Amino acid sequence: MSITLYRKYRPQKFTEVMGQNHIKLTLENEISSGKISHAYLFSGPHGVGKTTMARILTKSLNCRKRQKTEPCNSCTSCVDINEGRSMDMIEIDAASNRGINEIRELREQVRFVPLKENYKVFIIDEVHMLTTEAFNALLKTLEEPPSHVIFVLATTEIQKVPDTIISRCQHFNFKKVPLNEICRHLESIVSKENVKVDKKVLENIARHSGGYLRDAVSLLGQILTLGEKEISEEEALLVIPRSNVETIFEFLNYLFKGQTAQALQLIERFMEEGGDIEFFTKEVVEYLRKILLAKTTANWQELLWDLNKDSLEELHSYLSEIKIVDLRKMLEYLLEAMSAMKQAEIVQLPLELAIIKISELNHDSDQNFPDQPTKDIKNPVVTKKSQEKGNSQSSVTLAEIQNKWQQVISDLKKHNHSLSTFIKGARPIRMEGLSLVISFKYAFHWERVKDQKNKKCVEEVLKKIFGQDIILCGEIENINFKKSKSESGQKDDKMIETVLETLGGEVVS
Ligand SMILES: [Zn+2]
Repeated sequence: MSITLYRKYRPQKFTEVMGQNHIKLTLENEISSGKISHAYLFSGPHGVGKTTMARILTKSLNCRKRQKTEPCNSCTSCVDINEGRSMDMIEIDAASNRGINEIRELREQVRFVPLKENYKVFIIDEVHMLTTEAFNALLKTLEEPPSHVIFVLATTEIQKVPDTIISRCQHFNFKKVPLNEICRHLESIVSKENVKVDKKVLENIARHSGGYLRDAVSLLGQILTLGEKEISEEEALLVIPRSNVETIFEFLNYLFKGQTAQALQLIERFMEEGGDIEFFTKEVVEYLRKILLAKTTANWQELLWDLNKDSLEELHSYLSEIKIVDLRKMLEYLLEAMSAMKQAEIVQLPLELAIIKISELNHDSDQNFPDQPTKDIKNPVVTKKSQEKGNSQSSVTLAEIQNKWQQVISDLKKHNHSLSTFIKGARPIRMEGLSLVISFKYAFHWERVKDQKNKKCVEEVLKKIFGQDIILCGEIENINFKKSKSESGQKDDKMIETVLETLGGEVVS
């Protein structure tokens, strides 16, 4: 069932591939410009779409009715590939065909002119498993590939692939898929399967998969075998354990905000419900470590496997004014607690003490926090002002972005001409934490830009130029769609709704 589900909903077009935007973009550019490489190397973990991408590439190159760069999936070439009977796509599993003879045989095949003047694509999966002799034979083929032959080598262990092979290939490194995108894929599957699955369950699945799409779909498959038309959180627990992640982040947020009482209550509740506090503390330490690394390196990517984009932005907002040194101290206190727990009579006591110590951090570094604590929040580690603003600061300033705006447009032009035209008519107006807000004259320009693929493309260009993740937000001139609903209140929401209905837009998020 699970494998079937994965095959059934395997992405069939570039737009359907989750994540891997940089790779899609490059491949699509190559296809549209006709500058195809003869050897590709796809590296990265299991189940993130390497062979799927290779199949889509093959289809696109040989499609009779290609729409821009997308395969039509209905012509004979596409259908043959989809049904696994194409002569133009040869998949070889190097794990079971690792010897010289297989590669010799492959070299013979390469010599044949492919049918119908199509591209013949050889996909060698797990290429690192080949023997040295086989690699040498392969290398000879890669040195002089006939013009109609393309190799796609896929591997989960790039370090085992000889440099001589790597240097002959265009190398793409596939990444794990962010939580949001996995959820989106799972949502589309359950809706097509006509089953109702609680959103929390899907998020939990995505988290358990750790960013590996295939694992996520396979877990979903197991849940769907329960056979219900509607699957609740409780039922899903039969297949996968509840993730602690939500509780962990709730706990960390209390610590960051200095809500000591709430943090202590959470621990008490967790114990009452029979939770494993040692494991919990270990997980908290692990996440705090990730947060510390993310804050130090300004790279939040790792956290995207565990958190959806909204939660991540919320986390940013708490962290904006916490100093790295305080995070480090928090981590030290929690580590101490973790080791003390092993001998503790009252197992949660070391953690409770750590919480108190963390709450006192504020006094050691009062100068870091100019605002006074508010009444309902004891000893906040973060100033209240920063929480209200909901901002974590980007090290890139608006002025820097404005100065290099022309460069953004011209870099964008290289990737996507029409997209650069839309951006040209817009202007960067402010930074909101890690988000850059740009103002558009026309709603339909923003409509086009905010399309998942386009937005990613702009964000990637921004990242390349400014060296950090910048989230793109849009505003239409004279209509201020505020991001945060809590600030606008219900009345404003109603008004926005009316405006949106009139203009046919939606709130930018
Ligand atoms: Zn086609």
